[in-house]
Amino acid sequence: MRKIAIIGCGINGIGCAIALAESGYDVHIFDKKKPFSETSAKSSKLLHGGIRYLENGHLNLVRESLQERAAWVKQMPDHTKINRFFIPVYQNLSRNIFILFAGVKLYEFLAGKFSLGKSKFHGRKNTLQLNKSLRSEGLIGSVSYVDVQMDDEAISSQLLAKAERMGVKIIDNTEVTNFDLAGKVETDSHSIKYDFIVNACGPWVKASLDKNKINTKYEIEHVRGSHIIVNKKISNPLVLQNPSDKRIIFMLPIKEGTLIGTTEIKHDLAKPIECSKAEQKYLIDNANNFIQEPLDAGNVISNYSGVRALVSQGEKNLSSINRDSAIELNGKLINVFGGKWTSGLSLGKKVANLIQN
Ligand SMILES: Cc1cc2nc3c(=O)[nH]c(=O)nc-3n(C[C@H](O)[C@H](O)[C@H](O)COP(=O)(O)OP(=O)(O)OC[C@H]3O[C@@H](n4cnc5c(N)ncnc54)[C@H](O)[C@@H]3O)c2cc1C
Repeated sequence: MRKIAIIGCGINGIGCAIALAESGYDVHIFDKKKPFSETSAKSSKLLHGGIRYLENGHLNLVRESLQERAAWVKQMPDHTKINRFFIPVYQNLSRNIFILFAGVKLYEFLAGKFSLGKSKFHGRKNTLQLNKSLRSEGLIGSVSYVDVQMDDEAISSQLLAKAERMGVKIIDNTEVTNFDLAGKVETDSHSIKYDFIVNACGPWVKASLDKNKINTKYEIEHVRGSHIIVNKKISNPLVLQNPSDKRIIFMLPIKEGTLIGTTEIKHDLAKPIECSKAEQKYLIDNANNFIQEPLDAGNVISNYSGVRALVSQGEKNLSSINRDSAIELNGKLINVFGGKWTSGLSLGKKVANLIQN
């Protein structure tokens, strides 16, 4: 049986492990920490097409992700929640309501037969009836669309259990110290030859290549995104547009309260991945533009940050970089860059196809 090593056990690594085990390979997956303890535990916990990527014209990515979203809901009905997301529109604060309505309708249209519900237009009164926490002053109305929140911890556990049942060997707390293009993988205690290696180290893919003096054709931008969790509840997910920088942040109801995120800041991987005071303030100030009862630092229960590895083509605006993944084959090594939680399983299938052909 052909042997494959996967380095990194986040959503991309486990997606590859499951697809390769299904194709009959003997799969070993290494993680230097616990599985799902890095970026894949630090997301906004959405299985989505990415409504905000429509503005950048990334229609294919959105369409593909909407199909993947539907597959998740079918596969994990107990750990996914279909919810209506509201984009409130205020005088002088927001994008035009008719353009936004066209945007949410396009989102529904791109989902096609995988649509999970209709996008809608709401007048001022109806918006406030459905979203009691919103500030009424200056509100024009809202538009809404349907998307999915997930219990990422529960889904991760199910995926790990599924991989183990399929015979995948999960080797945690074991750093891969070196690897090469001929299939050699080294840890502190072992050196093993594999038929293929999948480098799914998340934000550390590029650093691991540099360390092993292996080139890549891709330029990678590392961008930190932080979230805060506050102790106040809201009734529906809100999509808010910052009036000054036009960025979008989410306020998402979760069991502990409300999850607010995210920021986008270039990150040096040599530094700790942490939410700064400035990011926390940015998120609170942003939310306070839209809600009745202002939040302050005292409402924050916890925070977390993760780093995206974005495949860059020299874009100046970090928000406009495509969230699509890139897969690169070099000898017996396959590097996986970027991607989304939503696309982790289908990325695994693409990697398995590449190895088979
Ligand atoms: C702030 C933020 C919000 C996001 N929100 C969403 C969202 O709502 N929905 C969505 O679809 N996507 C979202 N994403 C994107 C998504 O979270 C990531 O694309 C995905 O989690 C990346 O998974 P990964 O497996 O590539 O990386 P990771 O989860 O980081 O996994 C990589 C693993 O590699 C291990 N590793 C590294 N080096 C080595 C080594 N040398 N040896 C062994 N192991 C090693 C690490 O310990 C880690 O566990 C978000 C990302 C961020 C940053």
